[in-house]
Amino acid sequence: MTGDEVGPTGAHRDAGAVAAGARALVGARYVIALVGAGISVESGIRPFRGAGGLWTERGEPPMDGYQRFMEDPATGWRDMLNRRSNADDFSRSIAEAAPNAGHLAMAELEALGVLRHTITQNIDNLHFDAGNVAVTEIHGNRTKVRCIECGGRWRWAEVEVDLDHLPPVCAHCRGILKADVVMFGEPIPRDALAECEEQAALADCCLIVGTSATVYPAAAYPEYVLRAGGAIVEVNTDDTPFTPYATASLRGPSGVLLPALVAAVRALRDTVGK
Ligand SMILES: [Zn+2]
Repeated sequence: MTGDEVGPTGAHRDAGAVAAGARALVGARYVIALVGAGISVESGIRPFRGAGGLWTERGEPPMDGYQRFMEDPATGWRDMLNRRSNADDFSRSIAEAAPNAGHLAMAELEALGVLRHTITQNIDNLHFDAGNVAVTEIHGNRTKVRCIECGGRWRWAEVEVDLDHLPPVCAHCRGILKADVVMFGEPIPRDALAECEEQAALADCCLIVGTSATVYPAAAYPEYVLRAGGAIVEVNTDDTPFTPYATASLRGPSGVLLPALVAAVRALRDTVGK
């Protein structure tokens, strides 16, 4: 892909793709979205991988982070609390990030009744900040704490952390609490996986936003929709493995293209009187 195909000008070049994408969304019975880091990058959050990525610069965290945590949850909690009190640039960039035009467009799409559910790989809570309600976070949420036994989730502020009695335990089942964000080596929470599978089975259209859609299990959901005869609409800066099968491929920033897509959806619904 050449540089001049990317960027805000892409919205013009892809006018046909925007219209085709809007037709697919409006014509579908049940639309889900699969979202990745691309949309968060536009809110000033650094990606983990790739050019400018946090892990590209600092090296990847240990692959057995979850196993280490489980071997010694008290130390795991102490390390985590230290990291939270010594917030680095990256943590601050997430904490200060606000939803961008792409997030707001997705919230509008849900409010319109077009988008039924969002599966996100992002942990930044920005979909909820934007106003989306039906969201599954495959990798957890940075603002929450989760019980590893019953899967209960609470805001950090709701959890009493006694430094002399770490780790904190679940008020319901006495299970160990941990940050909701999924660590390396940690299985994706069962409830999140079940919800994603249920949503993918319902969908006849998948909107892919800001993700290369190559990491599993996330990539399995558009695959499932496609195999069942559903449509793919993608909004991404680069081609994905789904590009050859997509009904519409919108190339460029989601902050430009998603609002254009929503405007086209609104116009189309007005025309067809839906
Ligand atoms: Zn519990």
